[in-house]
Amino acid sequence: MPYYAEDYDLYLTATQSFCHKCNNLHRLIDTHIVTKNNEVFLRKFCPKCGETMVKISTDYEYYKRCNDYLKKPDLPEKHLTKVLKGCPFDCGVCPQHQNHACLALFNITDECNMKCNICYYAAEPGLGNHRSMETIEQMLATLLETESEPDLIQVTGGEPTTHPEIVEILRYLKKSPVRHLMLNTNGIKIAKDEEFVKALKSLGGGFEVYLQFDSLNSDVLKDLRARDMLDIRLSALAMLEKYNISTTLVTVVKKGINDHEIPEVIKFSRKYRCVRGVVFQPVQEAGRINARDDFRLTLSEIRQRIIEDEDNPFNDEDMIPLPCDPHKISVGYAAKMMDEKLYANLMPVTGKLPKELLTDQKGTITFEQDREFVKTVVETVSLDTAMGEGILKDKIKQKLFCCWPNFLCPADMGYENVYRIVIMEFSDIVNFDSINIKRECNFMIEPNRTIPFSTYNMGIEFSHGKKNAAS
Ligand code: SF4
Ligand code: SF4
Repeated sequence: MPYYAEDYDLYLTATQSFCHKCNNLHRLIDTHIVTKNNEVFLRKFCPKCGETMVKISTDYEYYKRCNDYLKKPDLPEKHLTKVLKGCPFDCGVCPQHQNHACLALFNITDECNMKCNICYYAAEPGLGNHRSMETIEQMLATLLETESEPDLIQVTGGEPTTHPEIVEILRYLKKSPVRHLMLNTNGIKIAKDEEFVKALKSLGGGFEVYLQFDSLNSDVLKDLRARDMLDIRLSALAMLEKYNISTTLVTVVKKGINDHEIPEVIKFSRKYRCVRGVVFQPVQEAGRINARDDFRLTLSEIRQRIIEDEDNPFNDEDMIPLPCDPHKISVGYAAKMMDEKLYANLMPVTGKLPKELLTDQKGTITFEQDREFVKTVVETVSLDTAMGEGILKDKIKQKLFCCWPNFLCPADMGYENVYRIVIMEFSDIVNFDSINIKRECNFMIEPNRTIPFSTYNMGIEFSHGKKNAAS
């Protein structure tokens, strides 16, 4: 007899995943996406281990909103692999992928001057393997095959500042057709070497530092980074502020360890003129990271902590799903002005943008299309009427970020007046979903392939050969 079980979940759709109990990365298993009590789960069916449930969202209403924000994909200009075994075994980028590389990661070394407990790459002192300039040139050539005008290259590692040619590499990439260049760093060299900071400054606009910044608490830092990094982080930030080098703080969030500090990190970031925002990343299972069970948290949990904090101005309508990868990235943008106490006055603008402007077109927001949005931006940065007229005359257009329409704004409203909060969740063996992975827009760039960041880190055996850590 069929029966009605009152507390059973509601089926939403089907996908495929891997079993994280038997750690089998060779076989995809049937998986349902279900909801129950306003939460969303993967219900995985492994022939060997049976059924497991993995929470992927704590907010079903927001989950539904993510589906609404999904936009038609911007595709790579060329595919580098063929479909042989199907996703995710054919990385990449293969013809099944539904996104281009918004962010291209250039891993230039395996070496690091730290040994963090939460290193997805398991880097540590002594690993070496600095990539040669020739290899880096090949990486750039590969990226340019798939994107003739890349939006953003992030130089990473290991710790990229241990590479003896780091400045030459940054200069070389800065001259390429890339729009923005980022250096992902633990901040040690920035804190200790002012000549290096001057060299970074000389790179000019369109360059940004992506600085590890997980906590303001020494004990938490010891847990995450295996050493107290607080003084280093503060010294690095003081240097970046002194030279006014655009900086994004990057906070890896581990449940029960530093998730309570999310509002505090945002508040702290507002004291710095050079800080353009904070990126929060929930821990993923990769490298040395233990992200099972108790330590895991979802994008929606981080988002809830941000919008529930009364001291920061980002509300429910301001933290929106990013239309190119809505389930995995949430963004909130604000116009920023430093007040007389040198604290950032933030006016969120994302909530004022009609969804259709982000999802239905890739173009320019005109004043007529969204008067309210442009008005908010103008008022926040206290601009005079003449500048407002400049907007009306459609004279000045700026595209501040990939996946974000051009919008008209005054000439002196530049990147200094932008502040953003980003929550970026990656996939691992636990939360893997073969539908979502095709939207991933962060790619590791190899000399001959471009591989989504998550599948790169999962250790999947690709049909086109193993990932290539060329030296
Ligand atoms: S993750 Fe993307 S590139 Fe990799 S196999 Fe799947 S569709 Fe292809
Ligand atoms: S997380 Fe960064 S700083 Fe820490 S060990 Fe890994 S590469 Fe080094």
